[in-house]
Amino acid sequence: MRERTIRLDLTLGYDHGTGTFDGYFQALADGRALAGRCGTCGRTWFPPHAGCPEDGGVCEPVDLDGHGVVVSETRTRTRLPFTDEDREVIFVLVAMAGADNTAFGRLENFSGANATGERVRLVAAMSPLGHPAQGVVFNPAEDG
Ligand SMILES: [Zn+2]
Repeated sequence: MRERTIRLDLTLGYDHGTGTFDGYFQALADGRALAGRCGTCGRTWFPPHAGCPEDGGVCEPVDLDGHGVVVSETRTRTRLPFTDEDREVIFVLVAMAGADNTAFGRLENFSGANATGERVRLVAAMSPLGHPAQGVVFNPAEDG
């Protein structure tokens, strides 16, 4: 006997606390790069960490100027988590000025064939965000 299936559409909503990273998410919404600097080794991480991934030291917030250089890119059509529409996206890894790691984000307002090596600047996201962490959005830097 063939099993019958029925379609069930479920929606789940809840209030998700931003906790330790509330300042970081607020800064992203303003187009500012709030990093974390380790009080033990002095390394600076963007996005920030509560504890240094190298030595566990406590990281304190520090503002970066938001500029960086694209070190790699991936282009695809996708729907970001918690959003409704598919769109063309350029995902990038950016070496931020003043940070010791690379930041994962999206590049917008870029029409070139190859973004690797492009100087970029963190900006406030203009596209819909499903989660504030998706607010790591870069534009080409005005000064090239
Ligand atoms: Zn450290």
